[in-house]
Amino acid sequence: MFSRKAAFLDRDGVINRVPPSGHVACPDEFEFLPDAPSACKILIEKGFEIVVVTNQGGIARGYYTMDEYLAVNDRMLAMLSAEKIKVLDVFFSPYHPVCDPDYAEFREWRKPAPGMIFEARKKYGISLLESIIVGDMESDVETGKNSGIGRIFFIGSEKNAPKKRFSFQVCGSLLEVAESL
Ligand SMILES: [Mg+2]
Repeated sequence: MFSRKAAFLDRDGVINRVPPSGHVACPDEFEFLPDAPSACKILIEKGFEIVVVTNQGGIARGYYTMDEYLAVNDRMLAMLSAEKIKVLDVFFSPYHPVCDPDYAEFREWRKPAPGMIFEARKKYGISLLESIIVGDMESDVETGKNSGIGRIFFIGSEKNAPKKRFSFQVCGSLLEVAESL
């Protein structure tokens, strides 16, 4: 039953640029990182299904509204679709600890908690051991560990990579990750 393999991709800093404000508040601010679409195509060619897993605590914090987030998500999906890239699903958590208990039902979905990953596994029958997770934050790397994903990738440099007692790989971009598989 758990036979599909996923590439669990963080959104901001992996698929798209992070704007100077630190968050994408409207569709016009959504811009692909160079090579992100080619990287997604390679991942799909290699048998991975694309699943986006993104913390959007900016919703709880009032930096942008749920509707604005959904509009950004629509833009991302349209831009990926224009590149003929199929996304299996997008999971997001609007929860943020400083605004607890707002959106408390999504507390366990906020990375590094494994809620989004477990939900995807249940919904689609994904083998986590065969899957990968890619992120640019310590919480992404920890999510991989906390959910038992087979291979964990950190986008960045060895210098800014988190120090962990478990193993993960450091790559400069999503394209580098895709090509290494
Ligand atoms: Mg990120």
